[in-house]
Amino acid sequence: ATEESVFLGRTAESRRVRAECADVLPGGVASNWQDAPPGAVWISHGAGSRVVDVDGTSYVDLHGGFGVGLVGHAHPAIVEAVSDRVRKGTHFAQPTEDVVVVARELARRFGLPLWRFGNSGTEATMDAVHLMRAATGRMKIIKIEGSYHGHHDSVQVSVYPDLAEAGPAGHPHSVPSGRAVPPALAQLTLVAPFGDLAAVERLLVENPGEIAGMIIEPIMMNVGLIPPPDGYLDGLRSLLHRHGAYLTFDEVKTGFAVAPGGAAQWSGVRPDLLCLAKALGGGVPCGAIGGVPALMNLIADGTYEQVGTFNGNPLTMAAARAVLTSVLTDDAYRHFDRLRRVMTEGAEDVLRRHDLPGYVRSYGAKGAVVFHDRPLLDYRDFAAYPDQWGNAHWLYQHNGGVFLPPWGKCEQWTVSVQHSEADVRRFVVNLERMAASLRP
Ligand code: PLP
Repeated sequence: ATEESVFLGRTAESRRVRAECADVLPGGVASNWQDAPPGAVWISHGAGSRVVDVDGTSYVDLHGGFGVGLVGHAHPAIVEAVSDRVRKGTHFAQPTEDVVVVARELARRFGLPLWRFGNSGTEATMDAVHLMRAATGRMKIIKIEGSYHGHHDSVQVSVYPDLAEAGPAGHPHSVPSGRAVPPALAQLTLVAPFGDLAAVERLLVENPGEIAGMIIEPIMMNVGLIPPPDGYLDGLRSLLHRHGAYLTFDEVKTGFAVAPGGAAQWSGVRPDLLCLAKALGGGVPCGAIGGVPALMNLIADGTYEQVGTFNGNPLTMAAARAVLTSVLTDDAYRHFDRLRRVMTEGAEDVLRRHDLPGYVRSYGAKGAVVFHDRPLLDYRDFAAYPDQWGNAHWLYQHNGGVFLPPWGKCEQWTVSVQHSEADVRRFVVNLERMAASLRP
């Protein structure tokens, strides 16, 4: 309670602005999750590794705009690329040369030859589902229970379902996530627990010739942070192919964060389609889908109309070119790894010395302290464990000048090329402060 009152005291102006806007913005914010507990923090500006809120408080930013911020704020290379593009005009609905540079670089990094662009992760995963359907003529897809892939109907199924409705653990029900998802459509999205190859095989056998493919986050980053069991991703690929179905990796979060070529590179498993967004645009809205010719050529021949007024937008492409060619270099990944070690080893040491329930998972620029006494394996584990420690952790970090994403339980930190070791040591110091005051 004490920590919470400190939070409320620090963010008086945020609360005032939010209340004032509630008559024009539903909930007083621009997107629902901006108001995640304990409440929206209205930002004035960002610089380097920091954000400054409307109360004038400066924080080390580990929220990273839900994983966008690998470049940090106002990175000179992005400022220059975007400013130059703004001076030359930002929209023609015709391609600019940057599109080719970006597509070639994505092909090199992710090992998939053909790319198209959109404006969000939601659009990328929507295109993936549509392409798998167009290629096979089959309408059913498989997703993982609890996974988030954006807010189009086909993937708004069993996203954080209530366990009372979710059905048996090995054979979950398809639960529409909200009343706007047509139940008939939700029935086309079959659901499997993460890490369970046999469950996917059962769905394929029970629905012969009906499943177009599967969409999966190769490292689950919306339920804490859950890595795939050994052989799982490769096993999925073989299994799906055996049944004439395709594999899509949703790398909207993992994309550039865990390795230059994402979780595909990290795992050595090449999917048929791969979705990107978030970090690609360096803070400018973006989305991309890459894939093998058998699928992507359906775009070229018009079987699937991948269209959008802003697709391949010059501003996004200018920013993405700078992100890929000037900022997320091999040096950047060495830097991420140094920061990752400071945070991981520091946090593990605190947990051990104070005998706190928890462990650390980290990959490249991202990681999380999971306050649970054993490793989470899937959504059921995630849903069942209490989140008091995670919420307390958020508040202690916030009050100690570190801005984490909300929901202490399920999101991860994101570091940028502009974060220093001193920045991330602060995270460890705040964790220690929490441990010392809450654990006698
Ligand atoms: N896929 C994953 C794994 C995500 O985490 C998100 C967003 O957080 C999305 C897709 C949707 O991306 P967007 O919010 O850009 O539509």
